[in-house]
Amino acid sequence: MISKNVRVRFAPSPTGPLHMGGVRTALYNYLFAKSKGGKFLLRIEDTDQTRYVEGAEEYVREALEWCGIEIDEGVVAGGDFGPYRQSERNSFYREAVEKLLESGHAYMAFDTPEELDIMRKEAEGKKEVFQYDAKTRGGCKNSLSLNADEVEELIESEAQYIIRFMTPDEAEDIVFTDEIRGEVCISSAVVDDKVLVKADGLPTYHLANVVDDHAMEISHVIRGEEWLPSAPLHIMLYRAFGWDSPKFAHLPLILKPTGNGKLSKRDGDAGGFPVFPTEWEDPETGKISIGYREAGYIPQAFLNMLLMLGWNPGDEREIFSLEEAAQAFTLDRVVKSGARFSPDKAKWFNEQYLRSQSPASLANDFIELASERGLNINSTEAISILKMMLERVSFLHEIFEAKWLFEAPKYNDFNAKMVRKKWKAETPLYMADLKEMFLSISPFEAEEIESKFKAHLEEKELGFGQVLLPLRLALTGEGGGPSMFDFAEYLGREKTISRLESGVLEIAKLKAE
Ligand code: GLU
Repeated sequence: MISKNVRVRFAPSPTGPLHMGGVRTALYNYLFAKSKGGKFLLRIEDTDQTRYVEGAEEYVREALEWCGIEIDEGVVAGGDFGPYRQSERNSFYREAVEKLLESGHAYMAFDTPEELDIMRKEAEGKKEVFQYDAKTRGGCKNSLSLNADEVEELIESEAQYIIRFMTPDEAEDIVFTDEIRGEVCISSAVVDDKVLVKADGLPTYHLANVVDDHAMEISHVIRGEEWLPSAPLHIMLYRAFGWDSPKFAHLPLILKPTGNGKLSKRDGDAGGFPVFPTEWEDPETGKISIGYREAGYIPQAFLNMLLMLGWNPGDEREIFSLEEAAQAFTLDRVVKSGARFSPDKAKWFNEQYLRSQSPASLANDFIELASERGLNINSTEAISILKMMLERVSFLHEIFEAKWLFEAPKYNDFNAKMVRKKWKAETPLYMADLKEMFLSISPFEAEEIESKFKAHLEEKELGFGQVLLPLRLALTGEGGGPSMFDFAEYLGREKTISRLESGVLEIAKLKAE
């Protein structure tokens, strides 16, 4: 069903790099918008100047771009509801908070940090937790407890003040339907009189978030579970403004591979897997953390892995292109409980995507990786290597671990254990015969090599194990790998024979030890 007015937003705070959980939030928002023919917005929530990190906004935009998550409206993309950076929207917040002050839903509070500290300590002494709310605000220094003259005087003396939301005097249940969790009921008594405007005149997250979601006509707020406790306050704010609230959907946490607790950057460092989409250089320490991109992930594989981390289609399917995911995605299939991250599963997704692509389509990427390693290969060579190796790796760069693809193995490269077990006294003779046979094959192509090889074994009454494995050892130094007929074709007759000869000599040295 296409509903015209679906508008969702991804609203990161530029306080550091985007964690993979943030990318998942962006992805689910994006898919939901696409599934409904709606719009996906990127809003930058940068009201907290103390936590602002240089470069974080650009990082978010570039990371989403690498993933292939396109933004319909927002910073850079533009749109009719801008500006999309909260630091440029202060007039909206001032106007909104004036309304709340006038209607009596907000008030000025003049308590100094020291005074608040005293109240906190007093409560602690009584084994209580101080909360600025209906019960305590009468005893604090604010525009409700002071008379109009006192307030005026404080303002004139330029006393610092903040603006707080006024929670209801009588506790009430705030009930709303979460699109994932169903009915949620939280008592207003657990919500304190949250700060809406700070002493520096800037709005807090809560005020800016609600004002913007309303102004940008957001239909569904899809965000992480950590924001669930804020939802009742947001609902009370919408009510106070006299606005309809959007629908809410709170996504489950992404859990550590052990399943215990939220996945953090430290888990990635310890487990050797990335937690950021792309490389991040900490501007303070200069420390570089690699991302999924640098670890060799195909962006679609990374997104597919995130898609399945908290959502399922209700059947066994696991591989979805972005278009297929947009068709299949519904919020009611997002799980409520935490989703455990598995580094192995992430790799598995990359393997699936690697193998589903044609060697020709990966050739350019492969050539680039090769030249970064000082290897000069052309596209025919790249395609042949990919044909042999794609099934055997999780990442394109792992192909370079097979050094023998690019140069003949030397003494130390031979698998000594295999040589001991499989290279017999008579093996060099078999290899000499093979060399003769190779000279007679035409064309020197895998199929032809294979059939001649088989006929040769029959004629000599030899088994595969006696000849094929030693051939592999001589050509590659290894006991396993792709088809040796394919590899011989790739090398060509001349190189195959010279490798065979040098392999026999090197192995003889090894055996002589
Ligand atoms: N700025 C908040 C964050 O960094 C956004 C929360 C929300 O989506 O409401 O996650």
